[in-house]
Amino acid sequence: MPNTGFLKGLVELRPDGYVAVRDEIFTSVPGLFAAGDVADPIYRQLATSVGAGTRAAMVAEKYLVELENPQSEAAQDPSPVVEAWLSE
Ligand SMILES: Cc1cc2nc3c(=O)[nH]c(=O)nc-3n(C[C@H](O)[C@H](O)[C@H](O)COP(=O)(O)OP(=O)(O)OC[C@H]3O[C@@H](n4cnc5c(N)ncnc54)[C@H](O)[C@@H]3O)c2cc1C
Repeated sequence: MPNTGFLKGLVELRPDGYVAVRDEIFTSVPGLFAAGDVADPIYRQLATSVGAGTRAAMVAEKYLVELENPQSEAAQDPSPVVEAWLSE
């Protein structure tokens, strides 16, 4: 069982405690990505975790770049996570 208690209320979790994702890395919160064992109840292997982590890092970078464009979809609909990040 993954250690996800601290994420309750911030992002959707599955009943078994894993972070709920679609397409491996996308959580219920835009700009918040999950990768590896925390979101993978099936494979739970080093190679699959590294692959998901690579995808999540690349998508996160793209997301942050898009935020710098005020016309982008990401900037138009900031999630609570992004709002917290922008207010720092
Ligand atoms: C005994 C054992 C043998 C294995 N053998 C193999 C194998 O032969 N081949 C293979 O491919 N896979 C193997 N695995 C699986 C592999 O280790 C995992 O799939 C891989 O480590 C998952 O990587 P991860 O980054 O998703 O998670 P993890 O490696 O578990 O990393 C998660 C990190 O988050 C930290 N963390 C947790 N909660 C918090 C928190 N609240 N705040 C901050 N940090 C936190 C943890 O301390 C940990 O450092 C094995 C696993 C185990 C337990």
